[in-house]
Amino acid sequence: MVSIPGPSVIPDRVLAAMHRPMPNIYEGELVEISYSVQDDLRKIARTEQPVYITVSNGHGAWEMAISNTLSRGDKVLILESGRFAVGWGEMAETSGVKTEILPGIDADPVDPAAVEQRLKADLSREITAVMVVQVDTATSVRNDIPAIRAAIDAAAHPALLMVDCIASLGCEPYEHDDWGVDITVAATQKGLMVPPGLGFVFPSEKALVAHKSADLRTGYFDWGPRTNPDEHYKIYCGTPPIQHLWGMREALDMLFEEGLESVWNRHRILADAVRSAVQAWKAEDGFSFNVTEPEFRSNSVTTVLTGDVDASELRRIAEQDCGVTLGIGLAEFADRAIRIGHMGHLNPPMILGTLGTIEAALTKMGAPMGGSGSAAAAAVIGSAL
Ligand SMILES: *Cc1c(COP(=O)(O)O)cnc(C)c1O
Repeated sequence: MVSIPGPSVIPDRVLAAMHRPMPNIYEGELVEISYSVQDDLRKIARTEQPVYITVSNGHGAWEMAISNTLSRGDKVLILESGRFAVGWGEMAETSGVKTEILPGIDADPVDPAAVEQRLKADLSREITAVMVVQVDTATSVRNDIPAIRAAIDAAAHPALLMVDCIASLGCEPYEHDDWGVDITVAATQKGLMVPPGLGFVFPSEKALVAHKSADLRTGYFDWGPRTNPDEHYKIYCGTPPIQHLWGMREALDMLFEEGLESVWNRHRILADAVRSAVQAWKAEDGFSFNVTEPEFRSNSVTTVLTGDVDASELRRIAEQDCGVTLGIGLAEFADRAIRIGHMGHLNPPMILGTLGTIEAALTKMGAPMGGSGSAAAAAVIGSAL
């Protein structure tokens, strides 16, 4: 089993739905499914605006967002809270946009007051967009998107607010329209429970206006021909991603059967179980949380600093002796952290299995442990049943 922060576990129902021969792609069921998937993705992002779909991973969705809204010479403010907003900014820079990083500390969320201050100082309105992640998958920080929106508004700044929700859509509460987000980016393989291969970009009205004059538009990603086309396939700029559409249809059915708010709630409870396990394991020279403030720990991934415990040996035991793959520490966390993914298709036995396995590996290694994390996790889940 994988317990990594994407790609996450794919439900059998989704795998089975994808296992079908090629259909008529010009009319009939596939075309209907394609439109219903778009409508329902908009319900997941909570928007009345359209969704644009790339046949790519999340990086392709990043590029679709950049190329459709920005122009050469524009400046983007990158709100650092780990690796991913910075990576998105690097891509913007390669595309011909200037970037400035608002520096952040790995253990902390973006500080909205610092955003307000920086934007207030931008008297010439040089900054055209602000990029941030809702959940950073390296640090496991969750940013407060409404507070960042409020900071932009308090500065009366016209910059577009662009939010990467690749690690959080379908896991954390999210409101594209109500929160005043201009661009939301997501992808299939994390909370949405479908193999990697589709990226999603949700614009606002303001982003659609920016698209009209964006000079970074490219032939493949351009929203223009994809908007209300006369032929269905133009939505995908070519052959539709048939298998992924079937898979996405099934995954959306599963999300709506459970109810989106119940899905968010399940993620919160299972994340609480993980956090209580880490809290119980905590020891001097042993495990600790990367994110120090509890309210900014995400419900989709937890980055655990491993102290003197050998992170690669722990992962090796979990995988080779027990069959659970844990996430590696990314970038500056290499060899000093593990990441526990708890996003998407996850229930109590799955997360308790992962946590019990980590405890077994710690026991085998003779690692320092404050107490039983799996017992603490079971208590959290038990009291939520
Ligand atoms: C996984 C992830 C990405 C990158 O997605 P790919 O599909 O690997 O391109 C970007 N941002 C965040 C927050 C992610 O978790």
